[in-house]
Amino acid sequence: MSSTPENIIGQQEMLAVRQRRRYTLCHVLTILGVFFLAAFGSLSLINNSHVLGTILLINALVGLINLYLLKRSGNVERAAKILSGILFVLSMSLLITGGENNTGMLWIYPIVAINLFINRFWPAVFVFSIFSTSSALLLFTPLSALLMTSYSLTESVRFMLTMLALNSICLAALRSEEQAYETIIQLHADDIRQMAYYDTLTGLPNRWSFKANLERMLNRAERDKQRIGLLYIDLDNFKQVNDQHGHEAGDRVLLKFSEQLLDVIRPNDQVYKPQTESLARLAGDEFVVLLPNIREPLDASIVATRILNIFKGGFNVDDVDHMLYASIGIAVYPDDSTNPTDLLHQADAAMYNAKNNGRNCFKFFTQDIADKLRERQLIEKGLRLALKEAHFSLVYMPIFDCKDSSIVAVEVLLRCHSPALKGYGPDHFIPVAEATGLIKDIDLLVIDNALDAQGVLQKEHGFNGKICINISGVELHNELFSEQVKNLLAHHKIKPNSVELEVTETAFVAGDVTCLKTLNALNELGVSLALDDFGTGYTAFNQLIHYPAHCLKIDRSFVNDLFSEREARNKMVMIIQSLAKLYDLRVIAEGVETEAQMTYLKELGCDWAQGYYLSRPLSWDDFCALLKP
Ligand code: C2E
Ligand code: CA
Ligand code: CA
Repeated sequence: MSSTPENIIGQQEMLAVRQRRRYTLCHVLTILGVFFLAAFGSLSLINNSHVLGTILLINALVGLINLYLLKRSGNVERAAKILSGILFVLSMSLLITGGENNTGMLWIYPIVAINLFINRFWPAVFVFSIFSTSSALLLFTPLSALLMTSYSLTESVRFMLTMLALNSICLAALRSEEQAYETIIQLHADDIRQMAYYDTLTGLPNRWSFKANLERMLNRAERDKQRIGLLYIDLDNFKQVNDQHGHEAGDRVLLKFSEQLLDVIRPNDQVYKPQTESLARLAGDEFVVLLPNIREPLDASIVATRILNIFKGGFNVDDVDHMLYASIGIAVYPDDSTNPTDLLHQADAAMYNAKNNGRNCFKFFTQDIADKLRERQLIEKGLRLALKEAHFSLVYMPIFDCKDSSIVAVEVLLRCHSPALKGYGPDHFIPVAEATGLIKDIDLLVIDNALDAQGVLQKEHGFNGKICINISGVELHNELFSEQVKNLLAHHKIKPNSVELEVTETAFVAGDVTCLKTLNALNELGVSLALDDFGTGYTAFNQLIHYPAHCLKIDRSFVNDLFSEREARNKMVMIIQSLAKLYDLRVIAEGVETEAQMTYLKELGCDWAQGYYLSRPLSWDDFCALLKP
C-alpha cells in the first residue's frame, strides 16, 4: 500500500481499532494465563513434578510482570510477544509432561488459537510454525527422549493434524479480518481523496487536481505540439445573490451553473473549481475550464461565448431570475506561457480586465495585461517589504471652513518610502493592497499613527478639529474592524467625536447586511463617517438615509468640472449640495484648485473645502507650523 497522506490516516485509524481489541485480549488472557499457570504450577509441585512446577510458577511470575508493564506503558506489541512466549512454554510443558492422564495435549489447541489472535497475520504464521515445528520435533524425532510421558503414534498424528486444521482455520479468519480492515482503509482513502481533490458542493475537481492535471496536460501538449486554452471564469453579482437570498440559494446557483457549464463544453474539456471550500463563501464563484488541443486561440473565444450565453435572458433558480453574468479571462499555451502557474495568473489577470471592462464579456491575455501583472507583483512585493520595515508615513492635508477659512479638520494620506515603490502613490498601491489582503494591516497602521498624531495635535497644538482617516471598503466586510477601532481609540485615549472615517462611496453595496452592520457599529462608537469620492458611485440617493453617514465628500472631478461645458457634470456639485441639505449632512468639497472654484463653493453654502489652492498635503512639521497662531 502506498503511503499517501490519506492511506496513512486510514492505517492509523485501523491500527487504533485493532490495538484496542488486542490490548483487551492481551489483558484478559494474561490474567487467565497467570491464574492457570499458578494453579497448575502449584499442583505440579504438590504432585512432586518439581521441574514442571517451577517452570509454570516462573511463567506465572513473568505473566504478572507482563500485566504490570502492559498497564503502565500500554505497549500491546511487547505484551503480545511476552504472552506468546508464556503460552509457548506452557503448551510445551503440557506436551512434555502429558498433563493429567495425558490430556495436556488438548489444552494446547485453544492456547495456540489464542496465540494467533493476539498477533497480526504474519507474526501469527511465525508463531504457529514455531509451535508446530517444536511439537513435531518433540513427538517424531529423537528429541522425544525429553518427553516425560509416552504418546502412541496415532495420538501424535491426530494431535498434529488437528493442530494444523484448527490453526489453518484461525489463520484464515485472521487474514480475512485484516482484508476487511484494508478495504475499510481503501474506502476511507477514497473519501479523503474525494474531499481533498474535489469541491464538495459541485463535485468538480478543485485546485489541487487542477494543478496536477494542468502540469500533465502541458507535458503532453509539449510532446504533441498542441495548444491548450485556459478559461478563468468569475461570476458577476454572485455576492448579491448570497447577500439577498442567502448562502443556500447561492449554493444552488453555483450548482446549476456548474451543470450548465458542463453542458456547453466538449467531453474532452475539463472544468475545475479552483477555490477551496474554506474560501467558497467569499470567492466560490470562480471556475476554470481547460480546453485541450485547440487549433487557435480564437477557438477558446467560441467556448467563452457559449458560456456567456448561459446567462442570456436571466439565470433562473428556484423561480427567481438572478441578474448574474460572467467575466472570463483566457490564456493560451504555449502562446502566452509554458509555465502552468503563470498561465493561471495570466487567465486570472485577463479575467480582471474583463471585469473592469464592463463585465459580462471575455478578454484574452495581452502584453498590456502582462505589464500590469508584472507591475502588480512588484507593488505587492514592495508593500510586504514596506510593512516589514516600516516604510510608511503620513502626510497631513488641512481641511478649511468655507466661511472663515479656519482649519477645521485634517485628512491623513498615506505615503510609502519603500525604494521598490518609488513613484507609486496610494492610488496605485492601495488597490493592490486590497486585492492581496495587506490592506487590513495597512489600515490599522494608518489609524494607529493618525490617532497618535491627533493626541499630540490636541495636547501640544491646541487643535480641536477632526482627524479624517481613509479606510478601505474591505473593512466594511471585516467583522473585527469596529472592535479594532474601539481598542485603538481607547489605547490612544482619543475622543471618538474628533475622528472621521472616510470610505469611498463605491464600497457600498445596496442591501449588504455585513456592510451596514459594520457602519452601525462604527457609528455607535461615536466616530463620524464620510462618504468619499461621492458622486462617482451608484448610490441611489434615497438609499442615503439608510447609511449612518455624517458627511459627503464631493469627488474632486466634479469640482474640477464646475465651469466645464459638460452639462451633466457641472451641475453635480450643486445637486450634491442640495442633497446634503435635504439629509442634513455636512459637505466637503475636494480638489479645490482655483480661487474661482472656492468663491463658487462659498456662495453655494458648502461647509468645508480642501485642495491644492488652499494647501497641499503637508509633512508633520509643516502642518504643525501651520497651526501656530
Ligand atoms: P482620496 O481619499 O480622495 O484623497 C484625496 C486625494 O486627492 C489625495 O491623493 C490628495 O493628495 C489628492 N488631492 C487633494 N486635493 C487635490 C487637488 O486640489 N488637486 C489634485 N490634483 N489632487 C488633490 P493621494 O494622497 O494620492 O490619495 C489617493 C487615494 O488613495 C485617496 O483618495 C484614498 O482613496 C487613498 N488613500 C490615501 N491614503 C490612504 C490611507 O491611509 N488608507 C486608505 N485605505 N486609503 C488611502
Ligand atoms: Ca479621502
Ligand atoms: Ca476623495
